[in-house]
Amino acid sequence: MPPKKKNKLPPVAELNVLEAAAEAAQLRKEIKHHDILYHQKDAPEISDASYDALRKRLESIENAFPELATKDSPTQKVGEKPAREFAKVRHTVPMLSLSNAFSEEDVEDFVDRVRKFLRLPDDEKLEILAEPKIDGLSCSLRYENGVLVQAATRGDGEEGEDVTTNVKTIKSIPQKLPKGAPEVLEVRGEVYMTRRDFEHLNKMQELTEQKIFANPRNAAAGSLRQLDPNITASRPLRFFGYALGEVSEQIATTQEGVRQKLQSWGFWVPGIDFRKPGKHLRTAVAISAEGLLKFYEFYYEERPNLEYDIDGIVYKVNDLEYQRRLGFISRSPRWAIAHKFPAEQAETILHKITIQVGRTGTLTPVAELEPINVGGVMVSRATLHNEDELQRKDVREGDYVIIQRAGDVIPQVVKSLPEKRKRGSKPFTFPDHCPECGSLAVREDGEVARRCTGGLVCPAQAVERLKHFASRSAFDIEGLGDKIIQSFWDEKMIQTPADIFRLKKYAADLKEREGWGELSVKNLLAAIEQRRTIALDRFIYALGIRQVGQATAKKLAQHYGSLENLLAQIKQCKDRKSDAFQSLLEIDDVGPAIAEDIVNFFAEAHNLRAVKDLQSELTVEDHVRTQTRESPVTGKTVVFTGKLVTMSREEAKAQAESLGAKVSGSVSKNTDYVVAGEEAGSKLKKAAALGIKVLSEEEWQNLAKV
Ligand code: AMP
Ligand code: ZN
Repeated sequence: MPPKKKNKLPPVAELNVLEAAAEAAQLRKEIKHHDILYHQKDAPEISDASYDALRKRLESIENAFPELATKDSPTQKVGEKPAREFAKVRHTVPMLSLSNAFSEEDVEDFVDRVRKFLRLPDDEKLEILAEPKIDGLSCSLRYENGVLVQAATRGDGEEGEDVTTNVKTIKSIPQKLPKGAPEVLEVRGEVYMTRRDFEHLNKMQELTEQKIFANPRNAAAGSLRQLDPNITASRPLRFFGYALGEVSEQIATTQEGVRQKLQSWGFWVPGIDFRKPGKHLRTAVAISAEGLLKFYEFYYEERPNLEYDIDGIVYKVNDLEYQRRLGFISRSPRWAIAHKFPAEQAETILHKITIQVGRTGTLTPVAELEPINVGGVMVSRATLHNEDELQRKDVREGDYVIIQRAGDVIPQVVKSLPEKRKRGSKPFTFPDHCPECGSLAVREDGEVARRCTGGLVCPAQAVERLKHFASRSAFDIEGLGDKIIQSFWDEKMIQTPADIFRLKKYAADLKEREGWGELSVKNLLAAIEQRRTIALDRFIYALGIRQVGQATAKKLAQHYGSLENLLAQIKQCKDRKSDAFQSLLEIDDVGPAIAEDIVNFFAEAHNLRAVKDLQSELTVEDHVRTQTRESPVTGKTVVFTGKLVTMSREEAKAQAESLGAKVSGSVSKNTDYVVAGEEAGSKLKKAAALGIKVLSEEEWQNLAKV
């Protein structure tokens, strides 16, 4: 369907001065509105291109009618407009994660393991450095000839985001290193926010009706990953350095030496005591697990009094040569471990239990609390998970409860304190009807969640589904954010996904909305038109089938190729004995429960109707294989089994898929190859029984080599 041209604006040359003045005023208003959304609220409603179009139109009006130009016009503002997205940075030395220890035993094991690996004689000392594990986000700073040239987030460890401009605004990061620093030096560490700064920031956010952050770590992450460096500059971020990436020359022989060098160059290092400026006494080098545990206890006690969140202690083999020999296992170094603290807890009053209704109708109980400081952070809501949990814990309105906060998960209610309970309190009765639509809420066999059965009539579900449909990873409709969807729903302009594509009939009404104008409406409608053609995997994901996330949606798209084929095949799946159902189960990642959810979704008349309705508005593109190289395994179905030696199962699967092979989780007559690692079991037997070719890991590698 061609985009509509009805709302086209007249050329600037055809405007008279009155029309031009009116339009310029309107444009300024709109641009300012979008500037605020974009820069301050981090919630843009229109695309970059649309925004540019607004500015361009205003500029040409101001050029044609210089008398209309005003000093405070957005066109007069200097400063670059930030990019929509960060550039990617490949880490020359990958940024790894740490394996965890939760108990004293784990720590002892760690020390033993290291000693064994290095074959240290019993009388040989092994020094291990202990320092607090800061709860922030890791960042790599690259200095060339002593000048900070690049800063990158960890990303997936291999590739992160370029946040150089933002990092340059962080005061505790040296822009320049003193003479004597290596030519190339990458300093790795943690960007974080102190608890006090975090509380203050949230207060300001609240006053200006902006986003409230859940904890200092989220606040730090949200502040660093701002497209506008001015916002980052206004946020109180800090940095601790604790490791090196690429270096052109060795700067020390021990981890402790690295710390000292970093400090001498002006970096802060973990364990710094803010109350004693210049003192960094709170690290230790120990030579036994016992010594490490003492250090752990010390921090465990001190933790509530610290100025920043820590979630454990990191132990690192001190000798860098030992570190080199120890190397890595998968994603973490063998020479370090993070000893995690248990979650932080606090006591408060639970005023009320409210019920939230999610996209698939799940009823989630939420505790509305007397705001309380939990390990340095104010908490006023916490999850009660589900009906069973709530009943098991017998949490009641008015109870004193223990709240727990761990890392960046949502705070939760651990238990109530019945001994402090007021007389006459009653157990909470979990509603058996949806609080939003009044429909019956039921629990299916084996399900923990109680779900609203209202389906399409439930406004809560419908709105959540619409939000999901238009979201980034689904239809990604610029300008159709959560708030707008809610208001379009309230005003009955959008009730089903397909209604989005019929929104243009309200164009005239939309223009009258506050803060909107001709151009914003035009832009929104254009963004919608752009999505009339959509990739199959996005379409499947957008439907919001239970348990079908992006990865599974992609697998389904790969498997079925086209929407028509998917619908036809799934229809046959009603017979659970059919080949079609068998073939659905063979898709990697699709277990019996997910298969049921998929089949049930398409068995529901109203879902089918919604899909048909969408089909009449959209073109769903057939799946195109994103394979880059042709190889002997292209188009083949492969099953991996047993333990692989040279790479992880995940990596093997990714490799196979990039070569255009289909990876399946179970062996059947459709399987072409079974790749058997060590200790392969039943799948190997089945392959033998069916006469399917079995490859060793090495044979597979040779086949996959192109
Ligand atoms: P995790 O993200 O739980 O795998 O833990 C690994 C992360 O801990 C690293 O990537 C760092 O971001 C972070 N971290 C915080 N403090 C330290 C520290 N003192 N030494 C090493 N890593 C740390
Ligand atoms: Zn409902």
